[in-house]
Amino acid sequence: MSILSKKPLIIAGPCSAESEDQLRTVVDSLQNAQVDIIRAGIWKPRTRPGTFHGVGARGLRWISEIKKSAKVMFAIEVATPQHVEMALKAGIDVFWIGSRSTVNPFTVDEIADALRGVDMPVMVKNPINPDLLLWIGALERFNQAGIKQLAAIHRGFCTTQTSNYRYMPLWGIPIDLKSRFPEIPLICDPSHIAGKRNLVFEIAQKALDLDYDGLMVEVHPDPDNALSDADQQLTPDAFSQLINLLQFRQSRASDTVFITKMEEIRNEIDQIDRQIVSAVEARMHLVIKAGIEKMKYNVTAFQLERWNDILQSRPEWITNGKTNPELIQELFKVIHNESIKIQLEIMGKNSSENN
Ligand code: PEP
Ligand code: MN
Repeated sequence: MSILSKKPLIIAGPCSAESEDQLRTVVDSLQNAQVDIIRAGIWKPRTRPGTFHGVGARGLRWISEIKKSAKVMFAIEVATPQHVEMALKAGIDVFWIGSRSTVNPFTVDEIADALRGVDMPVMVKNPINPDLLLWIGALERFNQAGIKQLAAIHRGFCTTQTSNYRYMPLWGIPIDLKSRFPEIPLICDPSHIAGKRNLVFEIAQKALDLDYDGLMVEVHPDPDNALSDADQQLTPDAFSQLINLLQFRQSRASDTVFITKMEEIRNEIDQIDRQIVSAVEARMHLVIKAGIEKMKYNVTAFQLERWNDILQSRPEWITNGKTNPELIQELFKVIHNESIKIQLEIMGKNSSENN
């Protein structure tokens, strides 16, 4: 069985390998922390030149040395066929493809080609831009090159929105990936999403609550003096605390009381959903009637005042104070857009008949 099929899969280690000593300290201090794979970047893709770009091939020698005395798996990022060749020779156990590589199909093809015929676990980080198809495309390229041990890593996206986080999580994208490819383990990298160590826990817990298959967390013996990503790395102690505090939940439970209770609640939800569908049907019937009247009196389908009134009043109709007004507003945007579309169709059809 592939290591990537273990759930929860816990990957931890420094953003970058900095010295053999640093790597040994991390391995020793994480020995009792239920870590399955140690991560360490050897070649670092940095946004600006002139910054620390990784220790390069000598980091591979440090890892090989450590693996002689400690039974531990290592994962590194590979970004070129040369990286792949050197890392395979050094006996690295798992590769990951960085966000800046996933965006480039030429790069992905080259790496996948270099791995052809090698039964190697490969984890593909999401592309830096919020494009699900690029992420899927990269996974497909590896799959087509014969790599069957695949996982996806969610590390957040660059967007123009401002947020507390370094990279926007946009949870809908990884969830969409999971629903299309349920067999591919989905791992969250809360460190790169957060950008700050105090936000790592909340993101990691959310990922677990969304039934992710594992976590990849940056851990450094002396985070403040780390050569890359100093603000987001945890000390080994903080990491152990994190693992102890996190709630690891199951995807389902076999407890019969739970199953019966859930069935009851879901039956009630199904009934309400039927009422929602009937209400939407009834609304659309009236929309058609209104469309015919508007046409008769030569009035536009879209009327700004009505649009504003609907978007303002419906959230105000919430009575329990618990429902999110934005949800109601979004819902009515969708409904009202559809209503306008229906009325435009009525008008379009009529005017083409008159012409
Ligand atoms: C990393 O894991 O250190 C890294 C460079 O990540 P990403 O490709 O997600 O930026
Ligand atoms: Mn990093």
